[in-house]
Amino acid sequence: TAKRNGRQRSVFYEAGLGEAAPEQPDPAAELAAALDRGELTVAYQPLVDLRTGSPTGAEALVRWQHPTEGNRPPDTFIPLAEETGLIMEIGEFVLRDACRQAARWVGSADDSVPLMVTVNLSARQVTDPRTVDAVRAALTETDLDPHRLVLEITETVLMQDREAAATNLGKLKALGVRIAIDDFGTGYSSLAYLSRFPLDMLKVPREFVDGLGRDANADIVTRAIVELAGALGLLTVAEGVETDEQRRHVAELGCDLAQGYLFSRPVDAETVLALMTGLDVAAPPADLAGGAPP
Ligand code: C2E
Ligand code: MG
Ligand code: MG
Ligand code: MG
Repeated sequence: TAKRNGRQRSVFYEAGLGEAAPEQPDPAAELAAALDRGELTVAYQPLVDLRTGSPTGAEALVRWQHPTEGNRPPDTFIPLAEETGLIMEIGEFVLRDACRQAARWVGSADDSVPLMVTVNLSARQVTDPRTVDAVRAALTETDLDPHRLVLEITETVLMQDREAAATNLGKLKALGVRIAIDDFGTGYSSLAYLSRFPLDMLKVPREFVDGLGRDANADIVTRAIVELAGALGLLTVAEGVETDEQRRHVAELGCDLAQGYLFSRPVDAETVLALMTGLDVAAPPADLAGGAPP
């Protein structure tokens, strides 16, 4: 961190701000320290099977509980972690926690529930070969059935560095994990990748779900995604379901799974465990929720 501070300071001198400039916080060093101090945690947003209405897993979402400023949403620090490379360490932490929690859910749920945990991978993680080792280690340590781990990637990542992405995804698939495209249809993409990469799931973005019943185009696009997924043998997950009308809509269109504030905000792993075992769940603390309230 001394090196980081040094580099930061020299930038200020070059910019002509001089020695009178106050000490600037170094966001990268701050994030690294937060990880060391255990300020990063993982929240889980339940996934619901639209046919049965039962919880069938959860998406892992990283959280930064800042000691004085409270919850800092991932959008404010994931891009920085990407730039600095710290995302590799953060990603490893999230993967391990997710696999550990999922193994516990599997242990307490009914055998018939096809439980899964989904974990977001950022661009750097998809192209860095060390991610394959991190995933393998997390699975081995926790003894989780690889099929229950779903890695979420965005289509833009697939298009940016196709060679590295294809190589790593092939190795990840060989471990037995599943791959989902997050926010499908919102990035820079080519439909050709759908057949070129070994995919298992498409996630219908909140912006499409939000338009259902109000915007004819949202209906058409969502229907097309679900049909495409069906034809390719991929599962579909509707994201950001906030109303019962949206739930009915995505169920009618044939989505398999859904997640959103209607069912649950992101909560702690214990609350998900309680949901899996059918216990009554008290309202989760608001600071685990991501984004703005609906
Ligand atoms: P995402 O993967 O698309 O995650 C869905 C986001 O939508 C989450 O925000 C979630 O809290 C929010 N959400 C879920 N249901 C609803 C709803 O009904 N209404 C509304 N308005 N929002 C809903 P969050 O947790 O702030 O995460 C934002 C993004 O940060 C994620 O988008 C993902 O791209 C990234 N991210 C989160 N955790 C990780 C992580 O561990 N690793 C990496 N690489 N990225 C992460
Ligand atoms: Mg996601
Ligand atoms: Mg998403
Ligand atoms: Mg996203």
